[in-house]
Amino acid sequence: MTLIATANSNRQTWSGLIEAYRPYLPVTETTPVITLLEGNTPLIPIPTIAQQVGRQVRVLVKYDGLNPTGSFKDRGMTMAISKAKEAGAQAVICASTGNTSAAAAAYARRARMRAFVLIPDGYVALGKLAQALMYGAEVLAIKGNFDQALTIVREMAESYPVTLVNSVNPYRLEGQKTAAFELVDVLGDAPDWLCIPVGNAGNITAYWMGFCQYHSVGLCERLPRLMGFQAAGAAPLITGQPVAHPETLATAIRIGNPANWQRAIAVQSASLGEFNAVTDAEILAAYKLLASEEGIFCEPASAASVAGMLKVKEQIPTGATVVCVLTGNGLKDPDTAIQHGQHSFKQGIEPEIAAVAKAMGF
Ligand SMILES: *Cc1c(COP(=O)(O)O)cnc(C)c1O
Repeated sequence: MTLIATANSNRQTWSGLIEAYRPYLPVTETTPVITLLEGNTPLIPIPTIAQQVGRQVRVLVKYDGLNPTGSFKDRGMTMAISKAKEAGAQAVICASTGNTSAAAAAYARRARMRAFVLIPDGYVALGKLAQALMYGAEVLAIKGNFDQALTIVREMAESYPVTLVNSVNPYRLEGQKTAAFELVDVLGDAPDWLCIPVGNAGNITAYWMGFCQYHSVGLCERLPRLMGFQAAGAAPLITGQPVAHPETLATAIRIGNPANWQRAIAVQSASLGEFNAVTDAEILAAYKLLASEEGIFCEPASAASVAGMLKVKEQIPTGATVVCVLTGNGLKDPDTAIQHGQHSFKQGIEPEIAAVAKAMGF
């Protein structure tokens, strides 16, 4: 009885990450808090996949696809939009591979602001586009890739009355660092390793900020190694060169010139971490494994963290705790799921028990 009452009251008292972590965030009593009660996402063990690593390694996923618009971008957006509102902004703008536009649109509309989003024409997953349109964003598809869209919006924010809410907006990272707080709050300390997909490298930077901040106030003893994974066709941090024509089916990390490049390198060296590339085939294998073996449906870019962890598993210390970040929800990208999932899908069956039983193999 008591346990049930406690669980219920915890759930009801969650009021979003700004309220939960207010002392660690750049907000004041007068900051209008624009929230959809983001954060507080589950940290789920994946024991079947952990068996592939062996050596008593514990593997968990931080399922940030369960945020209100289905990706970790909500963590950054509650802060960025609250601060934009506080500063009196009436419109925000972002370049996006999809998830930033969905989050920006939802939070901006909730704050009664216009949201302009620039997306690469033809390379945004269907669910994400549906969200931006439904939330009432003003969507501008450009004949170019994400990197070109980002260049445009950065300049526009300097000459027009629009606030930039890409991850170069410092408040985005402030909000996103709360995911590291949540990990420590649940695990009691930082994990040994954090495996994370890397596109513009805002999220890996934010996690490191969060771990360091908790460490500096004595809330964790360890600092994790940050292991960042890029798609092989969009891996500038591994090759050391911008990629002019990034290609990967993991569209959320289809980025050739990361906005937070220097910060990413700094995090890599400070955390004794590594960047590695994973192929689309490895990403798809992890994507299917998570769904079929663990019951967790993430989007392809998110699966890069698990694909990467499996790729470098020999390096994981015996008995270590590893957290893989699942950045976005699988429902964002139904096309990839239907094209690449391993399906048993028999169609055209007569509506009779005998026919169904036969189709079931009985
Ligand atoms: C934005 C995004 C990423 C990449 O995060 P960065 O901060 O750009 O490195 C990865 N996965 C998903 C699902 C995303 O939406």
